[in-house]
Amino acid sequence: MPPGALAAANVLSVRVIIAGAGIAGLTAALSLHAAGIEPLVLDAARELRPLGVGINLLPHAVRELTELGLAGPLAAAGIETAEQAHFDRHGNLIWSEPRGTALGYRWPQYSVHRGQLQMILLEAVRGRLGAGAVRTVNRLGSRPAFTCGQPIGMDTSAPSRARGENGATAVEVRSLRR
Ligand SMILES: Cc1cc2nc3c(=O)[nH]c(=O)nc-3n(C[C@H](O)[C@H](O)[C@H](O)COP(=O)(O)OP(=O)(O)OC[C@H]3O[C@@H](n4cnc5c(N)ncnc54)[C@H](O)[C@@H]3O)c2cc1C
Repeated sequence: MPPGALAAANVLSVRVIIAGAGIAGLTAALSLHAAGIEPLVLDAARELRPLGVGINLLPHAVRELTELGLAGPLAAAGIETAEQAHFDRHGNLIWSEPRGTALGYRWPQYSVHRGQLQMILLEAVRGRLGAGAVRTVNRLGSRPAFTCGQPIGMDTSAPSRARGENGATAVEVRSLRR
């Protein structure tokens, strides 16, 4: 379905709260926005900072982020991985294989700092959905507190009393058929 088609079809009215502004939550927010749904991302942390270590984004993940229009920032922040190799403690090669485009994929593999990736996603979410789309100091509970179609209790002053069905990085959806 092309971006926005769901909303344009006027089939569903959907309110989505995403628990956690990590890599998964922010990517989910961008994907929902592309589908015409405006989610709200709540994170328990006081501040979102670029923490973590280097991670490898495999080609299928790069494909999804490319679809979301992030190929440029990713290429700027990451190092394209050409090969993965394992050595023993004497430096002898045990095994190696090419990676990403060198292995024939249409999308590259990137080695990228997790925190930098998170900040790229955060900037994109705030740029596309508005500065208020991601709120910190908002912890969601882990136990279901609603049934489908009912409003969820949510205090927009911190901390939030909104409760997520699946906990962190899960998505809470209330859908109403029109
Ligand atoms: C050393 C290391 C190396 C790794 N290497 C790779 C790799 O090479 N490739 C790869 O794909 N992955 C790798 N990973 C895994 C990858 O980093 C994680 O899978 C990814 O960061 C998880 O993202 P996430 O958004 O699900 O969770 P997180 O990044 O943990 O974000 C969760 C967010 O939810 C918030 N939160 C938690 N509870 C609540 C609540 N109740 N209410 C509201 N907010 C809440 C937290 O504050 C946090 O901001 C690695 C991980 C580690 C530790």
